[in-house]
Amino acid sequence: MSAKLLSFYDYDRDRTISCPCGWSGLCSENEDYFSEVLDVRCAKCDRMLLIVSYPTHDATRAAAATGNERAIENLQHVNEREAFISRAKVRQLKRANQLPNLDGAELVIEWDFEDRERKDGDSLTVLRHGDRVIWREVAYYEGIDRFEEVLWILRKKYGDRFIELRPTDASISYLCGDDMRASSTIDWLNAELKRMAGK
Ligand SMILES: [Zn+2]
Repeated sequence: MSAKLLSFYDYDRDRTISCPCGWSGLCSENEDYFSEVLDVRCAKCDRMLLIVSYPTHDATRAAAATGNERAIENLQHVNEREAFISRAKVRQLKRANQLPNLDGAELVIEWDFEDRERKDGDSLTVLRHGDRVIWREVAYYEGIDRFEEVLWILRKKYGDRFIELRPTDASISYLCGDDMRASSTIDWLNAELKRMAGK
């Protein structure tokens, strides 16, 4: 028997679940949360009994429309998240020609962080070459994918002269968060840049 798959709003965590080994218990007390799903396991034999996927924004909207209380609660977060994403998209670097020309044979660009949450604003990623700010945009928490996108736009602009996108100490915890792979991704990307530049 393999674990049963459930969508988030079909999952009732206050329900009792039982295992073929004879154990039974409350779902809510036997959950493990992962980045994409949660699972419910038997406390006695560790068999995985349920896998529950987290809801997409559309799934939350659809379930809220049918009166699902958890979905109605989550809808506020969904709306806030979507508003954040549209604010972030408006300001984000899209094309190489939005960047200034820079002098120098080997360009190291710093990826810095401006914490503005206490001022009720969005925190910012600041790209710097030496003392010069070359771009500012809304920072994503655990934004390693955005880091990579920006790195390739910088590569397009500065070519082989661009040898490193270097996170500052101030930016690193926001950039990596709990994503264990992020810091090795940063190293890998920068090694790739240097390799392409023949350094
Ligand atoms: Zn069991």
